[in-house]
Amino acid sequence: MKLKKEKFKDTEECYMPNGLRIGVYPGSFDPLTNGHLDIIHRASKLFDKLIVAVLHNDSKQAVFTMEERVELIKKCTCDIENVEVDMFSGLLVNYVKKKEAVAIVKGLRAVSDYEYELQMAMLNKHIDKNVETIFLMADIQNSFLSSSIVKELAKNGGNISGLVPEQIIDNINLKLRNTI
Ligand code: ADP
Repeated sequence: MKLKKEKFKDTEECYMPNGLRIGVYPGSFDPLTNGHLDIIHRASKLFDKLIVAVLHNDSKQAVFTMEERVELIKKCTCDIENVEVDMFSGLLVNYVKKKEAVAIVKGLRAVSDYEYELQMAMLNKHIDKNVETIFLMADIQNSFLSSSIVKELAKNGGNISGLVPEQIIDNINLKLRNTI
């Protein structure tokens, strides 16, 4: 027990002020889907605080504004006490350090996700060896689900019920109809 404490002493000093274990779940969330929400629920149980961080990405054309995406996530997570919603731009590692988080959370849907996510996790580890990435496997019923599929369906008048949280269905349909 004593040995273990010694080994992790530096990490605890740098990344656990107040003894809080903070996780960051980053993504585009354009918009939030049931797949994302499942990961949020599960990851919130692993950390004292989980920050869902909406990434501003210049190279990805988003349908929802950053503010809209944050609002939709807040609407669906307000009942989870230890979840906070935020936005960021720039390097994820810098954001994680600024928030004094211990780990990045990622969802894995398929083998195709794995290759890219492995690369990103390695890169982040290279930038800062203290930043861990934790992968949660997508629930089988969400493994085909993506924000793009939801947008495509809504844009063409399809039924997105069961794919996104009930409380944001109207927001998504309204937005997508107005962007055609
Ligand atoms: P997308 O790939 O749909 O544009 P995001 O960039 O918003 O999604 O994804 C944010 C995170 O959520 C990533 O780690 C991604 O792997 C994960 N994720 C996306 N969709 C799902 C899903 N259906 N089930 C579990 N995790 C998911």
